[in-house]
Amino acid sequence: MQRLIEGIHRFQLQEWGHYEGLFHRLSREGQKPHTLFITCCDSRVLAELITQSQPGDLFVVKNVGNIVPPASQAADGQSTAAAIEFAVSSLQVSDIVVCGHSQCGAMTALLQPPHPQMPYLSRWLTMAAPVKKILEENYSHLTELDDRIIAAAEENVLFALENLRSYSSVAEALLQGTVRLHGWFFKISSGELFTYLPQQQQFVRI
Ligand code: ZN
Repeated sequence: MQRLIEGIHRFQLQEWGHYEGLFHRLSREGQKPHTLFITCCDSRVLAELITQSQPGDLFVVKNVGNIVPPASQAADGQSTAAAIEFAVSSLQVSDIVVCGHSQCGAMTALLQPPHPQMPYLSRWLTMAAPVKKILEENYSHLTELDDRIIAAAEENVLFALENLRSYSSVAEALLQGTVRLHGWFFKISSGELFTYLPQQQQFVRI
């Protein structure tokens, strides 16, 4: 806790001066983020840092494994579903990014079921069960766990993009051409970001 308190003091003494004008404007005018950014709770994945975004730029949703449940299962992932609805219908973001990452603990738990004493995590991960099935059916050639985790993280991003389309607010915005979907992958060891190109059916470096 002491580190957080010290950080707060540093922010107020050293950083606030740089941000004061921006925060005053955001307070006066309200937020108008351009992007809904859905990523993992992992402490190494910081949406604002890796995109060098400013306060007010991103509407960030973090959940375990950046899972987007299909609308039909949204009751199990209400927080994420509510954030998607709010970002698209009320904030009218122009872009939605789903960003998975390397060494994802959630993807590891998906491939190697978590400890039975974590019933909530197990239940949450059942929403990504189709990803596990895809791994079993199409990636049996990958023997190293790290490679399987990367494949699961990438497939999980594609699964999330597919599920985003099942929300009526997103489907309508796509139809109107007012929103674009993006599937990203963040490699922790190199800081690189990759985006999925449907034409090439692969993730390429941004
Ligand atoms: Zn993760």
